[in-house]
Amino acid sequence: MNNIKMFLVRYAEIGTKGKNRYVFEDILCKRIRRRLEPMGEFKVWRDFGRIYIEALSDYDYDEAVEKLTKIFGIVGLCPVTVADELTYDALRDATLQHFEDTCGDKGYDFSFKVHTRRINKNFPMNSMEIDMEIGHDLLEKFEGEGLHVDVHKPDVMVEVELRGENGYVYSKIIPGPGGLPVGTNGKAMSLLSGGIDSPVATYMIAKRGVEMEAVYFNSPPYTSARALEKVQNLGTIVSQYAGPIKLHIVNFTDIQLCIYDNCPHDQLTIIMKRIFFQIAERLAKENDCDAIVTGESIGQVSSQTMQSLAVIDAAVTCPVYRPVIGMDKQEIVEYSQRIGTFETSIEPYEDCCTIFVDKHPVTKPKMKSIEKSESHLVGKVEELIDKAVETAEVVWLK
Ligand code: ATP
Ligand code: MG
Repeated sequence: MNNIKMFLVRYAEIGTKGKNRYVFEDILCKRIRRRLEPMGEFKVWRDFGRIYIEALSDYDYDEAVEKLTKIFGIVGLCPVTVADELTYDALRDATLQHFEDTCGDKGYDFSFKVHTRRINKNFPMNSMEIDMEIGHDLLEKFEGEGLHVDVHKPDVMVEVELRGENGYVYSKIIPGPGGLPVGTNGKAMSLLSGGIDSPVATYMIAKRGVEMEAVYFNSPPYTSARALEKVQNLGTIVSQYAGPIKLHIVNFTDIQLCIYDNCPHDQLTIIMKRIFFQIAERLAKENDCDAIVTGESIGQVSSQTMQSLAVIDAAVTCPVYRPVIGMDKQEIVEYSQRIGTFETSIEPYEDCCTIFVDKHPVTKPKMKSIEKSESHLVGKVEELIDKAVETAEVVWLK
Protein backbone atom coordinates (compact mmCIF):
# COMPACT_ATOMS: atom_id res chain seq x y z
CA MET A 1 0.00 0.00 0.00
CA ASN A 2 3.01 2.27 0.05
CA ASN A 3 2.07 3.94 -3.21
CA ILE A 4 -0.87 5.62 -1.51
CA LYS A 5 -0.04 9.31 -1.23
CA MET A 6 -3.45 10.66 -0.38
CA PHE A 7 -6.43 10.07 1.89
CA LEU A 8 -9.92 11.39 1.75
CA VAL A 9 -11.44 11.90 5.18
CA ARG A 10 -15.11 11.20 5.71
CA TYR A 11 -16.87 12.85 8.60
CA ALA A 12 -20.53 12.84 9.37
CA GLU A 13 -21.78 14.74 12.35
CA ILE A 14 -19.68 17.82 11.64
CA GLY A 15 -21.73 18.17 8.48
CA THR A 16 -24.79 19.06 10.57
CA LYS A 17 -23.23 22.06 12.27
CA GLY A 18 -24.51 24.72 9.88
CA LYS A 19 -22.54 27.93 10.06
CA ASN A 20 -20.17 26.51 12.67
CA ARG A 21 -19.18 23.78 10.33
CA TYR A 22 -15.94 25.49 9.30
CA VAL A 23 -14.85 25.77 12.90
CA PHE A 24 -15.30 22.02 13.32
CA GLU A 25 -13.58 21.25 10.04
CA ASP A 26 -10.63 23.48 10.87
CA ILE A 27 -10.20 21.87 14.27
CA LEU A 28 -10.35 18.43 12.67
CA CYS A 29 -7.66 19.49 10.16
CA LYS A 30 -5.55 20.74 13.05
CA ARG A 31 -5.95 17.46 14.94
CA ILE A 32 -4.95 15.50 11.85
CA ARG A 33 -1.86 17.70 11.28
CA ARG A 34 -0.76 17.29 14.90
CA ARG A 35 -1.19 13.54 14.84
CA LEU A 36 0.75 13.12 11.59
CA GLU A 37 3.48 15.64 12.36
CA PRO A 38 6.00 13.17 13.85
CA MET A 39 5.61 10.83 10.87
CA GLY A 40 6.64 12.94 7.88
CA GLU A 41 5.51 15.91 5.84
CA PHE A 42 1.81 16.11 5.08
CA LYS A 43 -0.57 18.65 3.62
CA VAL A 44 -4.06 18.68 5.12
CA TRP A 45 -6.80 20.84 3.67
CA ARG A 46 -10.53 21.10 3.25
CA ASP A 47 -12.36 21.63 0.04
CA PHE A 48 -16.11 21.56 -0.59
CA GLY A 49 -17.05 19.56 2.48
CA ARG A 50 -14.16 17.16 2.17
CA ILE A 51 -10.88 16.91 3.99
CA TYR A 52 -7.85 15.71 2.09
CA ILE A 53 -4.50 14.52 3.39
CA GLU A 54 -1.55 14.39 1.06
CA ALA A 55 1.82 12.86 1.95
CA LEU A 56 4.64 15.08 0.75
CA SER A 57 7.37 12.79 2.03
CA ASP A 58 7.84 9.08 2.62
CA TYR A 59 5.79 7.75 5.51
CA ASP A 60 4.67 4.50 7.07
CA TYR A 61 1.21 3.74 5.66
CA ASP A 62 0.13 1.34 8.44
CA GLU A 63 1.24 3.70 11.18
CA ALA A 64 -0.54 6.63 9.55
CA VAL A 65 -3.76 4.66 9.23
CA GLU A 66 -3.53 3.54 12.85
CA LYS A 67 -3.07 7.12 14.04
CA LEU A 68 -5.74 8.59 11.79
CA THR A 69 -8.38 6.02 12.70
CA LYS A 70 -8.11 7.14 16.32
CA ILE A 71 -9.00 10.77 15.63
CA PHE A 72 -12.48 11.71 16.83
CA GLY A 73 -14.53 13.30 14.08
CA ILE A 74 -13.28 10.89 11.42
CA VAL A 75 -15.95 8.43 10.35
CA GLY A 76 -13.97 6.84 7.55
CA LEU A 77 -10.67 7.10 5.80
CA CYS A 78 -10.34 6.39 2.08
CA PRO A 79 -6.90 5.72 0.60
CA VAL A 80 -6.84 7.62 -2.69
CA THR A 81 -4.81 7.19 -5.87
CA VAL A 82 -4.42 10.44 -7.78
CA ALA A 83 -4.36 10.91 -11.54
CA ASP A 84 -2.10 13.91 -12.08
CA GLU A 85 -3.87 15.07 -15.21
CA LEU A 86 -7.37 14.79 -16.54
CA THR A 87 -6.97 12.42 -19.47
CA TYR A 88 -8.64 9.07 -19.84
CA ASP A 89 -5.26 7.30 -19.88
CA ALA A 90 -4.26 8.93 -16.60
CA LEU A 91 -7.59 7.93 -14.99
CA ARG A 92 -7.26 4.37 -16.18
CA ASP A 93 -3.64 4.07 -15.03
CA ALA A 94 -4.55 5.50 -11.62
CA THR A 95 -7.40 3.00 -11.28
CA LEU A 96 -5.24 0.01 -12.20
CA GLN A 97 -2.55 1.23 -9.83
CA HIS A 98 -5.16 1.70 -7.10
CA PHE A 99 -6.34 -1.88 -7.51
CA GLU A 100 -2.81 -3.20 -7.28
CA ASP A 101 -2.07 -1.10 -4.20
CA THR A 102 -5.25 -1.84 -2.29
CA CYS A 103 -6.10 -5.40 -3.35
CA GLY A 104 -2.76 -6.75 -4.56
CA ASP A 105 -2.08 -8.85 -1.48
CA LYS A 106 -5.64 -10.20 -1.20
CA GLY A 107 -6.23 -11.22 -4.81
CA TYR A 108 -8.97 -10.06 -7.17
CA ASP A 109 -11.75 -12.59 -6.65
CA PHE A 110 -14.57 -10.14 -5.95
CA SER A 111 -17.26 -8.08 -7.67
CA PHE A 112 -17.02 -4.37 -8.36
CA LYS A 113 -18.79 -1.43 -9.88
CA VAL A 114 -17.30 1.85 -11.06
CA HIS A 115 -19.05 5.06 -10.02
CA THR A 116 -17.77 8.27 -11.56
CA ARG A 117 -18.50 11.80 -10.39
CA ARG A 118 -17.63 14.49 -12.88
CA ILE A 119 -17.34 17.68 -10.87
CA ASN A 120 -15.20 19.17 -13.62
CA LYS A 121 -17.66 19.00 -16.52
CA ASN A 122 -15.08 19.85 -19.17
CA PHE A 123 -13.97 16.26 -19.51
CA PRO A 124 -14.98 14.97 -22.98
CA MET A 125 -16.59 11.72 -21.71
CA ASN A 126 -19.66 11.64 -19.47
CA SER A 127 -19.80 9.73 -16.18
CA MET A 128 -21.43 6.66 -17.63
CA GLU A 129 -18.93 6.39 -20.42
CA ILE A 130 -16.07 6.64 -17.94
CA ASP A 131 -17.72 3.97 -15.71
CA MET A 132 -17.94 1.60 -18.64
CA GLU A 133 -14.48 2.22 -20.06
CA ILE A 134 -12.73 1.86 -16.72
CA GLY A 135 -14.80 -1.22 -15.86
CA HIS A 136 -13.79 -2.72 -19.16
CA ASP A 137 -10.09 -2.00 -18.60
CA LEU A 138 -10.20 -3.43 -15.07
CA LEU A 139 -11.80 -6.63 -16.34
CA GLU A 140 -9.28 -6.92 -19.12
CA LYS A 141 -6.49 -6.82 -16.60
CA PHE A 142 -7.91 -8.86 -13.67
CA GLU A 143 -10.86 -10.93 -14.97
CA GLY A 144 -8.69 -14.07 -15.18
CA GLU A 145 -8.13 -13.78 -11.44
CA GLY A 146 -11.83 -13.79 -10.59
CA LEU A 147 -12.76 -10.10 -10.84
CA HIS A 148 -16.31 -9.51 -12.08
CA VAL A 149 -18.91 -6.77 -12.30
CA ASP A 150 -22.01 -6.57 -10.11
CA VAL A 151 -23.93 -3.33 -10.56
CA HIS A 152 -26.50 -4.11 -7.83
CA LYS A 153 -24.47 -5.39 -4.88
CA PRO A 154 -20.79 -4.97 -5.64
CA ASP A 155 -18.23 -6.06 -3.05
CA VAL A 156 -16.17 -3.03 -3.96
CA MET A 157 -17.43 0.32 -5.18
CA VAL A 158 -14.72 2.03 -7.20
CA GLU A 159 -15.23 5.78 -6.88
CA VAL A 160 -13.67 7.94 -9.58
CA GLU A 161 -13.90 11.69 -9.07
CA LEU A 162 -12.91 14.37 -11.55
CA ARG A 163 -12.21 17.57 -9.68
CA GLY A 164 -10.20 20.56 -10.87
CA GLU A 165 -7.21 19.31 -12.81
CA ASN A 166 -7.03 15.91 -11.14
CA GLY A 167 -8.76 12.58 -10.95
CA TYR A 168 -9.18 10.76 -7.62
CA VAL A 169 -9.75 7.04 -7.29
CA TYR A 170 -10.79 5.34 -4.08
CA SER A 171 -12.56 2.12 -3.22
CA LYS A 172 -12.15 1.37 0.42
CA ILE A 173 -13.42 2.99 3.59
CA ILE A 174 -11.41 2.26 6.71
CA PRO A 175 -13.71 3.02 9.66
CA GLY A 176 -12.77 5.78 12.11
CA PRO A 177 -14.13 6.30 15.63
CA GLY A 178 -16.73 8.97 14.73
CA GLY A 179 -17.60 11.61 17.32
CA LEU A 180 -16.46 15.21 17.23
CA PRO A 181 -12.91 16.59 17.06
CA VAL A 182 -11.37 17.18 20.47
CA GLY A 183 -11.32 20.90 21.20
CA THR A 184 -14.77 21.67 19.84
CA ASN A 185 -16.52 21.29 23.18
CA GLY A 186 -14.57 22.69 26.10
CA LYS A 187 -12.70 20.77 28.74
CA ALA A 188 -13.55 18.32 31.55
CA MET A 189 -11.78 16.76 34.52
CA SER A 190 -12.02 12.98 34.65
CA LEU A 191 -11.59 10.97 37.84
CA LEU A 192 -9.29 8.33 36.45
CA SER A 193 -8.63 5.20 38.45
CA GLY A 194 -6.96 1.97 37.44
CA GLY A 195 -10.25 0.16 36.84
CA ILE A 196 -12.15 -0.75 33.71
CA ASP A 197 -14.83 1.92 33.87
CA SER A 198 -13.17 5.31 34.18
CA PRO A 199 -10.89 4.97 31.11
CA VAL A 200 -14.00 4.11 29.07
CA ALA A 201 -15.85 7.10 30.56
CA THR A 202 -12.91 9.38 29.72
CA TYR A 203 -12.85 8.11 26.16
CA MET A 204 -16.61 8.58 25.76
CA ILE A 205 -16.59 12.22 26.84
CA ALA A 206 -13.50 12.98 24.74
CA LYS A 207 -15.33 11.45 21.79
CA ARG A 208 -17.88 14.26 22.03
CA GLY A 209 -15.12 16.77 21.32
CA VAL A 210 -14.18 17.50 24.93
CA GLU A 211 -10.56 18.05 25.87
CA MET A 212 -9.72 15.90 28.91
CA GLU A 213 -7.70 16.41 32.04
CA ALA A 214 -7.59 13.72 34.70
CA VAL A 215 -7.10 13.37 38.42
CA TYR A 216 -5.85 10.30 40.25
CA PHE A 217 -6.04 9.96 44.03
CA ASN A 218 -2.95 8.16 45.18
CA SER A 219 -2.55 6.67 48.66
CA PRO A 220 1.06 5.64 49.14
CA PRO A 221 2.18 3.43 50.81
CA TYR A 222 -1.25 1.75 50.84
CA THR A 223 -1.26 1.80 47.06
CA SER A 224 1.81 0.82 45.12
CA ALA A 225 3.86 2.70 42.55
CA ARG A 226 2.62 0.09 40.10
CA ALA A 227 -0.98 1.24 40.64
CA LEU A 228 0.01 4.78 39.70
CA GLU A 229 1.95 3.52 36.71
CA LYS A 230 -1.12 1.56 35.61
CA VAL A 231 -3.28 4.70 35.73
CA GLN A 232 -0.68 6.56 33.68
CA ASN A 233 -0.60 3.73 31.14
CA LEU A 234 -4.39 3.80 30.90
CA GLY A 235 -4.40 7.57 30.43
CA THR A 236 -1.75 7.22 27.75
CA ILE A 237 -3.88 4.72 25.83
CA VAL A 238 -6.87 7.06 26.02
CA SER A 239 -4.65 9.97 24.92
CA GLN A 240 -4.03 8.22 21.61
CA TYR A 241 -7.62 9.18 20.83
CA ALA A 242 -8.23 12.15 23.12
CA GLY A 243 -4.91 13.94 22.57
CA PRO A 244 -2.52 14.85 25.42
CA ILE A 245 -4.07 14.47 28.88
CA LYS A 246 -2.87 16.54 31.82
CA LEU A 247 -2.95 14.15 34.80
CA HIS A 248 -3.08 15.56 38.32
CA ILE A 249 -1.76 13.10 40.88
CA VAL A 250 -3.17 13.97 44.30
CA ASN A 251 -1.67 12.45 47.44
CA PHE A 252 -4.75 11.34 49.36
CA THR A 253 -3.16 9.30 52.16
CA ASP A 254 -3.49 11.80 55.02
CA ILE A 255 -7.09 12.60 54.12
CA GLN A 256 -7.91 8.93 53.93
CA LEU A 257 -6.40 8.26 57.35
CA CYS A 258 -8.24 11.26 58.77
CA ILE A 259 -11.56 9.89 57.50
CA TYR A 260 -10.67 6.44 58.78
CA ASP A 261 -9.89 7.74 62.25
CA ASN A 262 -12.93 10.01 62.59
CA CYS A 263 -15.88 8.57 60.69
CA PRO A 264 -18.00 5.39 60.89
CA HIS A 265 -16.35 2.76 58.74
CA ASP A 266 -19.49 1.78 56.85
CA GLN A 267 -19.52 5.33 55.42
CA LEU A 268 -15.85 5.55 54.49
CA THR A 269 -16.27 5.08 50.75
CA ILE A 270 -19.08 7.63 50.49
CA ILE A 271 -17.20 10.28 52.46
CA MET A 272 -14.01 9.59 50.55
CA LYS A 273 -15.85 9.95 47.22
CA ARG A 274 -17.36 13.25 48.36
CA ILE A 275 -13.87 14.57 49.07
CA PHE A 276 -12.61 13.17 45.73
CA PHE A 277 -15.34 15.19 44.08
CA GLN A 278 -14.54 18.38 46.02
CA ILE A 279 -10.88 18.18 45.11
CA ALA A 280 -11.70 17.32 41.50
CA GLU A 281 -14.04 20.32 41.34
CA ARG A 282 -11.30 22.62 42.64
CA LEU A 283 -8.79 21.30 40.12
CA ALA A 284 -11.46 21.59 37.42
CA LYS A 285 -12.05 25.27 38.22
CA GLU A 286 -8.32 26.04 38.34
CA ASN A 287 -7.87 24.43 34.94
CA ASP A 288 -10.92 25.79 33.09
CA CYS A 289 -12.81 22.51 33.08
CA ASP A 290 -16.60 22.80 33.05
CA ALA A 291 -17.49 19.40 34.47
CA ILE A 292 -16.16 16.33 36.21
CA VAL A 293 -16.41 12.86 34.73
CA THR A 294 -16.53 9.47 36.48
CA GLY A 295 -16.88 5.82 35.52
CA GLU A 296 -19.83 5.14 37.81
CA SER A 297 -22.69 2.90 36.75
CA ILE A 298 -25.96 2.58 38.67
CA GLY A 299 -25.96 -0.28 41.14
CA GLN A 300 -22.49 -1.59 40.33
CA VAL A 301 -21.26 -1.32 43.94
CA SER A 302 -22.61 0.12 47.20
CA SER A 303 -21.26 3.61 46.46
CA GLN A 304 -23.06 3.59 43.12
CA THR A 305 -26.66 3.05 44.24
CA MET A 306 -29.06 5.86 43.39
CA GLN A 307 -28.93 7.06 47.01
CA SER A 308 -25.13 6.96 47.17
CA LEU A 309 -24.74 8.81 43.87
CA ALA A 310 -27.13 11.51 45.08
CA VAL A 311 -25.17 12.03 48.30
CA ILE A 312 -21.85 12.10 46.40
CA ASP A 313 -23.24 14.55 43.84
CA ALA A 314 -24.34 16.89 46.60
CA ALA A 315 -20.68 17.49 47.52
CA VAL A 316 -20.15 19.69 44.44
CA THR A 317 -21.98 22.25 42.36
CA CYS A 318 -20.36 21.59 38.99
CA PRO A 319 -21.98 19.17 36.52
CA VAL A 320 -20.95 15.52 36.92
CA TYR A 321 -20.96 13.39 33.77
CA ARG A 322 -21.15 9.61 34.06
CA PRO A 323 -21.26 8.31 30.52
CA VAL A 324 -21.34 4.61 31.52
CA ILE A 325 -24.17 5.15 34.02
CA GLY A 326 -26.63 2.90 32.17
CA MET A 327 -24.22 0.27 30.93
CA ASP A 328 -23.84 -3.27 32.28
CA LYS A 329 -20.37 -4.32 33.40
CA GLN A 330 -20.11 -6.66 30.40
CA GLU A 331 -20.92 -3.81 28.02
CA ILE A 332 -18.23 -1.64 29.61
CA VAL A 333 -15.77 -4.54 29.36
CA GLU A 334 -16.51 -4.94 25.65
CA TYR A 335 -16.10 -1.21 25.11
CA SER A 336 -12.74 -1.24 26.90
CA GLN A 337 -11.60 -4.18 24.78
CA ARG A 338 -12.52 -2.25 21.66
CA ILE A 339 -10.56 0.87 22.65
CA GLY A 340 -7.62 -1.13 23.98
CA THR A 341 -7.66 -0.33 27.72
CA PHE A 342 -8.98 -3.67 29.01
CA GLU A 343 -5.73 -5.62 29.27
CA THR A 344 -4.13 -2.83 31.30
CA SER A 345 -7.24 -2.31 33.47
CA ILE A 346 -7.24 -5.92 34.65
CA GLU A 347 -3.67 -5.83 35.93
CA PRO A 348 -3.97 -6.64 39.64
CA TYR A 349 -2.68 -3.49 41.42
CA GLU A 350 -4.91 -2.22 44.21
CA ASP A 351 -6.43 1.25 44.15
CA CYS A 352 -7.09 3.14 47.34
CA CYS A 353 -10.81 2.39 47.44
CA THR A 354 -10.30 -1.33 47.76
CA ILE A 355 -7.95 -1.04 50.72
CA PHE A 356 -10.07 1.07 53.02
CA VAL A 357 -13.46 -0.47 52.25
CA ASP A 358 -15.63 -1.74 55.04
CA LYS A 359 -17.11 -5.24 54.94
CA HIS A 360 -20.64 -3.86 55.13
CA PRO A 361 -20.72 -0.39 53.56
CA VAL A 362 -23.96 1.58 53.56
CA THR A 363 -25.97 1.21 50.39
CA LYS A 364 -28.65 3.80 51.18
CA PRO A 365 -26.78 6.63 52.86
CA LYS A 366 -28.82 9.50 54.29
CA MET A 367 -27.50 12.99 53.74
CA LYS A 368 -28.09 13.95 57.38
CA SER A 369 -26.12 11.00 58.70
CA ILE A 370 -23.21 11.63 56.31
CA GLU A 371 -23.16 15.31 57.28
CA LYS A 372 -23.08 14.34 60.93
CA SER A 373 -20.12 12.05 60.34
CA GLU A 374 -18.33 14.70 58.32
CA SER A 375 -18.75 17.16 61.17
CA HIS A 376 -16.08 15.09 62.96
CA LEU A 377 -13.65 16.11 60.22
CA VAL A 378 -14.19 19.84 60.69
CA GLY A 379 -11.03 21.60 61.75
CA LYS A 380 -8.94 18.62 60.71
CA VAL A 381 -9.51 17.83 57.06
CA GLU A 382 -9.63 21.30 55.46
CA GLU A 383 -5.92 21.88 55.82
CA LEU A 384 -5.21 18.41 54.49
CA ILE A 385 -7.39 19.08 51.45
CA ASP A 386 -5.63 22.39 50.76
CA LYS A 387 -2.28 20.67 51.04
CA ALA A 388 -3.36 17.82 48.74
CA VAL A 389 -4.47 20.31 46.08
CA GLU A 390 -1.35 22.45 46.43
CA THR A 391 1.05 19.54 46.23
CA ALA A 392 -0.70 17.75 43.36
CA GLU A 393 1.84 16.60 40.85
CA VAL A 394 1.22 17.09 37.13
CA VAL A 395 2.21 14.64 34.41
CA TRP A 396 1.35 14.99 30.73
CA LEU A 397 0.19 11.75 29.18
CA LYS A 398 0.66 11.43 25.43
P1 ATP B 1 -13.25 2.04 37.77
O1 ATP B 1 -13.36 0.75 37.04
O2 ATP B 1 -13.36 3.23 36.92
O3 ATP B 1 -12.07 2.06 38.71
P2 ATP B 1 -14.93 1.05 39.81
O4 ATP B 1 -15.91 0.11 39.27
O5 ATP B 1 -13.71 0.50 40.45
O6 ATP B 1 -14.53 2.09 38.68
P3 ATP B 1 -15.26 2.74 42.12
O7 ATP B 1 -13.97 2.29 42.66
O8 ATP B 1 -16.45 2.81 42.97
O9 ATP B 1 -15.72 1.95 40.84
O10 ATP B 1 -15.03 4.17 41.51
C1 ATP B 1 -16.04 4.87 40.87
C2 ATP B 1 -15.43 6.01 40.10
O11 ATP B 1 -14.73 6.88 41.01
C3 ATP B 1 -14.38 5.54 39.12
O12 ATP B 1 -14.94 5.16 37.90
C4 ATP B 1 -13.51 6.76 39.00
O13 ATP B 1 -14.10 7.70 38.12
C5 ATP B 1 -13.54 7.32 40.41
N1 ATP B 1 -12.38 6.83 41.19
C6 ATP B 1 -12.32 5.77 42.01
N2 ATP B 1 -11.11 5.66 42.58
C7 ATP B 1 -10.36 6.67 42.10
C8 ATP B 1 -9.01 7.13 42.32
N3 ATP B 1 -8.19 6.49 43.11
N4 ATP B 1 -8.61 8.23 41.66
C9 ATP B 1 -9.44 8.89 40.82
N5 ATP B 1 -10.71 8.52 40.60
C10 ATP B 1 -11.17 7.43 41.22
MG1 MG C 1 -11.91 1.48 40.72
